[in-house]
Amino acid sequence: MLIIFDLDDTLIDTSGCITHFKLEDTLNTMVHEGLAIPDFSEALELLRRLNSTSDSARSAIAEFVEILGVDKKFFEIGVKEVYEHIPSDLPVFPLDGAIEMLTELSCQHQLALVTIGKPMLQMDKMKKAGIDSRIFSKIAVTEEKNKKPHYQMIMDELGYGPTEVLVCGDRIPLDLVPARELGLKTVRIQWGRGLNSSGYKGEVDYCISELKELKSIVNSLMTFSSF
Ligand SMILES: [Mg+2]
Repeated sequence: MLIIFDLDDTLIDTSGCITHFKLEDTLNTMVHEGLAIPDFSEALELLRRLNSTSDSARSAIAEFVEILGVDKKFFEIGVKEVYEHIPSDLPVFPLDGAIEMLTELSCQHQLALVTIGKPMLQMDKMKKAGIDSRIFSKIAVTEEKNKKPHYQMIMDELGYGPTEVLVCGDRIPLDLVPARELGLKTVRIQWGRGLNSSGYKGEVDYCISELKELKSIVNSLMTFSSF
C-alpha cells in the first residue's frame, strides 16, 4: 500500500526542537524592529503559552499581537522570523522510532511525504533529523495550505486507488480531513500541534500516540483488505 506522511510533528519533533527556541528569536526580532514591551521574559512566556494551545505559530503570533494591542506590522515581522530563519546550529530530532518505522515500512510499502512549508527549509529539517529523503517515492512541499491536490497527484502518479492509501499526520484539518475527502484511511499522531487538534475526533480512522503503533495498523489493513 501507499503511506503518505506529514513531516512537522509527525516524523520530526518540530514543536520541541524548533518552535520553542524560535519564539525567543521571533520576540527578539520584534523588539529590535520597535516593539515596546515592559518585560521580555513575561512576554516570551505569554507567546509560548499562546503557541502551546494554538494550531500554528502564525495564529499564536496573531493572538499575541492582538493581546498587546500593537501595530499589525509586528505580526508580519514575527511570522517571517518564525518560519524563515532556522539557525543552522539548531538540532532537529526525529520523533521516537520514526527512522526505524520508515525503514521497516519501506520494505513492503511505498512511502510519500506531503508537507507544508518552504521547500529548502523542509528538506533541510528532514536531513538534520537524519531522515533520508530517498526513502520516499514522492515528496511534495507546498506553501499553500491545501494538501488534497498533492495527495491526489501522488496517488495518480504511483497508481494507487483510494482504498490502498493511508495518510498519517498530526493536524486533523490540514493533514487528515482532505485525505478523508478523497476516501483515504487516516491516522492521527498525537504530538505537538496534534495534541491541540480537538473537536474532529470522528474524522479520523485511527489515533496513535507513538509512531511504532503504525505498523500494526498497516498490518491489520493489509489483512482485512484486498491489497
Ligand atoms: Mg504537522
